[in-house]
Formats: sequence, structure tokens, C-alpha cells
Amino acid sequence: MRRMLAFLAAALAGAALFGAEIKNGAEYRLADMPDEMTARAKRGGTVRFLLEEGAGHKWEARHSANECAVTIEHRAESGRAAVTLAKNPSAQAPALVEMRYVRDGAEGAAPERTLRVVFYTVAGEVPDFRYPRNRINERLRAECAARGIVITDWHVHIRGGFTPEMAAERERAGFIRQSAMENHGREWEIYDNARLAAFAAAARRANPKMPVGIQVNDRDWYRQIDAATRAKFDYILADTMIMGKLPNGRDKRLWLVKDMADTGDPERWMDEYVAHNLRILDEPISILANPTYLPAPLSPMYDRLWTEARMKAVISRAVARGIAIEIQAESPFPSPKFLRMAKSMGAKFSFGTNNFDPAPKDLTRWLDAITWLDLHGDDIWSPACLKK
Ligand SMILES: [Zn+2]
Repeated sequence: MRRMLAFLAAALAGAALFGAEIKNGAEYRLADMPDEMTARAKRGGTVRFLLEEGAGHKWEARHSANECAVTIEHRAESGRAAVTLAKNPSAQAPALVEMRYVRDGAEGAAPERTLRVVFYTVAGEVPDFRYPRNRINERLRAECAARGIVITDWHVHIRGGFTPEMAAERERAGFIRQSAMENHGREWEIYDNARLAAFAAAARRANPKMPVGIQVNDRDWYRQIDAATRAKFDYILADTMIMGKLPNGRDKRLWLVKDMADTGDPERWMDEYVAHNLRILDEPISILANPTYLPAPLSPMYDRLWTEARMKAVISRAVARGIAIEIQAESPFPSPKFLRMAKSMGAKFSFGTNNFDPAPKDLTRWLDAITWLDLHGDDIWSPACLKK
């Protein structure tokens, strides 16, 4: 512990030492994992991340129990360890967590890798997670009132320290109805029926009237989730941002694709991607999130790749299946052209923030879409759970 404290003091003196920051939900491969990281949380917040964990190895943690709690879940089937750091709400002092990668049965031997994380409380204490009464939000409120729109955020993630209780409080304090949703999938924190049911129960306890949803990330989710568990949820949201497999057999998350070498010929990739979109729209989902998303290397070609025929194929399937087209705060997707076409084809729209933590997002995008498209109450997706 003394060595850790000395190290911590040195680290904090030279904050630049810890340049890389753990983003909640991030994933680290052994090969390109830095040795030192920071994580930030507001009081009592949590950060969750995934570390690659090879056969015959495991990650273990050393830390001071006063400042934070560390839980490590070893998931042999996916070759990863899920690490949750939870900051003690009463501790202002930074915590140092040393993650050690050791061979099974060789405890006490020198670790093959170490990862040191300084986990500290962001100055400023408890953030205001409610929407500020700024110009954009007040205009949004006025436009919704004038147009008969009851606005709901259907893409509220309970993560990064944001809780169902905070969602309920945010709703009480403002005009935007809240929901509570989390990711489900083999490579996610919630990956089975028991965990889904526990999440639904916790969200219902916070506010029995708040809609509770699942973001599904596996394409066979409707076979994994049993009927009794499905019945505990009001809606299902899916995006198209995971397609194909990496060489190691894990899912390819398109937001991590940095290079066109990983997509190959854009036209061929696009054909495959549109087919992927249509397959997702054939699943029993409620909301298509972040429609027409493209990975970074292809997004400069958006207008060329998203031809009218491709847009039409996606929109007509969504309309036929009664699936909402999401307008996501702070996302450039989909283009105004896509949104206009969707409106003219009779699509229903939903709004979402896709938050990472309790910080309110900028809702300019919602306001813009409402005015660009001249949306009214009838254009807004409204599921049975709201009509109850
Ligand atoms: Zn999401």
C-alpha cells in the first residue's frame, strides 16, 4: 500500500502521465492497452470497462477499499473480464487501482501486464443532471407545446452513474418524459434473462410509470430473451452499428472501425450494410436508433453511399413494420434528406439522447428536426405503454 500511495502521489503530481482516459463501456485489447489510465466519476459514480483475458490467465485488482470498490467478472466464453469501478460517494480522494494480468495458479508471481488506473472524483461535486433552461431547451419546450408533441427520450442509458431515480427526477423537473434502458448482448454487462429481469425491477422501483426498454445488440436476441422476461419491458431499441466479426471471433463494432481496409470496397460494404439494416428491421423491435449511421472511414461518402433507393428500402421496411425512426441528440445521422423522405413516406419518429452519463446532452438536433420536418403530435411514435 505504501508503494501505491507513493506512486499515486507521483502520478497526481504529473497528471500528464495519465493521458488516456477510460470511457465508460470501453474495451481494451491486451496488445494495444496502455499501462496507465484515468477514470473520472462524479460522486458515487461507476465506470465499467472490458479487458481482454486470454485462456489460462486472469485479471486481478489491488486497490484501497476506502475510495472505491472493484468487481471483476471473468467471462471465459467471450475471453474478456468486465471490470466495474465504483467510487465511494463519501471519498473525495482519488483511488489508485492496479490491475494485474496473471497466469492461473501463478498468484504471487510477477504479472505479465499491469494497468494502473487513477480514479478520481470530478471537481464540482454532484452534477446537475436536469436539463438547463437555456435558449434551445426553452424553444424546444415551446415548439412541442405548439405542435401537440409530448416528447419522450427513448434512448436513456442507465450507465455512467445515471440511475432510474435520476431519470425520474429529471422528468419531474422538466418537460421531457424519460425512459430507462440498458444494453443486452453476449458481449455486454447484461447478457441473460436474470440480469434483464433485475434491471427491469430496479427501474420499475424508481418510477413505476416510466417506460423501461432494452437495447438489443445480438441478432438472435429474440431467441435468447424468454417471453416472461420480454413481457417486463415496454419497448426494444436497436441500432445497426455492430456488423460482422473480428478475426478473434468477437462482434465488430463499427464505431471502432478506423480504416477503410476494414470495410473493403465501399459499394460492396454498403450492399451488405443495407441488408443488415433490413434484417434488423425484420426483428420484433420498436425503434431503429441512429439510422443510416456510417463508420468513420465511410461517413465522408454518406451522400454517395446512401442512395435514394437504399434510403427508400430502409424507410419502407420501418414504415411497414411500425418501427420508429430515431432522431438522436448530437448525432449527424440520419441526414435531413433521409428524414424528409421518411416523413413523406409516413414514418413515425422517436427522440433519443444516447447518454453516456448523467450529463444532459445538447438537444439542438431534436429542435432542428422538429422544425425542418414540421413535425406534429401525429408524426411521433407512441407505443402502447404511453397510452395506458
Ligand atoms: Zn444506446
